[in-house]
Amino acid sequence: PFDFQGKHVTVAGLGVSGIPAAKALHARGALVTVVNDGDDDRAREQAAGLEALGITVRLGDGATLPEGTELIVTAPGWKPDKPLFLAAAEAGVPVWGDVELAWRLRGPDAAPWLAVTGTNGKTTTVRMLAAILKAAGLRTAAVGNIGVSLLDVVLGEEEYDVLAVELSSYQLHWAPSLRAHSAAVLNLAPDHLDWHGSMAAYAADKGRVYEGNKVACVYNAADPATEDLVREADVEEGCRAIGFTLGTPGPSQLGVVDGILVDRAFVENRQKNAQELAEVSDVRPPAPHNIANALAAAALARAFGVPATAVRDGLRAFRPDAHRIEHVADIDGVAYVDDSKATNTHAAEASLAAYDSIVWIAGGLAKGATFDELVATAAGRLRAVVLIGADRALIREALARHAPEVPVVDLDRTDTGAMLQAVTEARRLAVAGDTVLLAPACASMDMFTNYNQRGDAFAAAVRELRA
Ligand code: ADP
Repeated sequence: PFDFQGKHVTVAGLGVSGIPAAKALHARGALVTVVNDGDDDRAREQAAGLEALGITVRLGDGATLPEGTELIVTAPGWKPDKPLFLAAAEAGVPVWGDVELAWRLRGPDAAPWLAVTGTNGKTTTVRMLAAILKAAGLRTAAVGNIGVSLLDVVLGEEEYDVLAVELSSYQLHWAPSLRAHSAAVLNLAPDHLDWHGSMAAYAADKGRVYEGNKVACVYNAADPATEDLVREADVEEGCRAIGFTLGTPGPSQLGVVDGILVDRAFVENRQKNAQELAEVSDVRPPAPHNIANALAAAALARAFGVPATAVRDGLRAFRPDAHRIEHVADIDGVAYVDDSKATNTHAAEASLAAYDSIVWIAGGLAKGATFDELVATAAGRLRAVVLIGADRALIREALARHAPEVPVVDLDRTDTGAMLQAVTEARRLAVAGDTVLLAPACASMDMFTNYNQRGDAFAAAVRELRA
């Protein structure tokens, strides 16, 4: 175990991960300085709480490396090219994220981690995985990027047999020594490129999840980039590459045969060459991308030794989270669907593929993405498009290139109230049998606090229309 006694540790960022990190380090004898870019009332209040414990806090200066720093523990979202990290690199100071800290502070008998990353489907897959592990009678929880701090779980009283861990590319970037029992990369599409700097850097950070895996590296057979990452990873001896596919599985794969999810990688009865797990109809919703998520969850659970019956029972018990292809209402034969969680083009492509005739509400922060491929793929399904948000011109231009016949309403608004106008416009454009789909393909922070608030605004607008 790492000895923090008397070590000068700088915590970068107050907030959900910084405050518990500062407290945990302080409690282990570290000399903690918290640095924070912001200096507002909320930051001052949080700083006062930490200072009362004897922790130093510097507000309004997240750029300067405090004198004598031996280790930085950063909030995962801080960009690697920040001056603080450039100074740290120059001084040879290591940088850990919240996940690395949790990994280092976990006890000697801590539960193994089954880790999930990927551009899309992480939360859904981790919830499915936790449901399957629970159905097998294991003590488990869905934790990590899903909104449950790993540090809290690792330092908490509750005991677990295994953890279902969602990891973002940011968290993996800052988690150099993490070694999961088994891990899955669900898919790889451009996202957060402004943060990582390039697709190659983004992929490399995702690929870290496989480093040191013990039993299985789970990859998407339809996404060769995920298999490449397995090949590049340094794993423990005997660790297997396990694929998942929506088609017939090969050896060492899970897949689908005649509407049944089957496992050819971990077969219980040696007389057989495949194990039936569950029916496609056990997966909710049974959209193709979601069956892929279920297969990935099943692969990780099976790598942990869970029986086939628990996969079926777990998938039946699973309920999707809010704002993920959530059916809000039907009005005059038009369905209103909230997929606010489609915060990038790859996710939006999956939800646009699930409907035939769509009035699409899109726009927000593009995060460096391009929209040509998405718009070209979806063009034939679009009745009309309503655009909101800061980067909507990028989508409008892609529509002009690939779907010039589709009517576009550009609201030219970035205020919260724009959602009601967007839904009103969508209603006007839709005909019976259509789906009005909020799948923005963009982040929400230009207009809303987060995707939850954006989805809630959509649902509230739909309710107002119905009234
Ligand atoms: P994440 O935690 O990775 O953001 P979620 O499970 O919350 O993923 O799903 C986010 C959105 O991504 C969903 O609303 C849906 O639009 C889309 N999605 C989910 N699973 C997949 C998948 N396997 N491939 C592509 N898109 C997906």
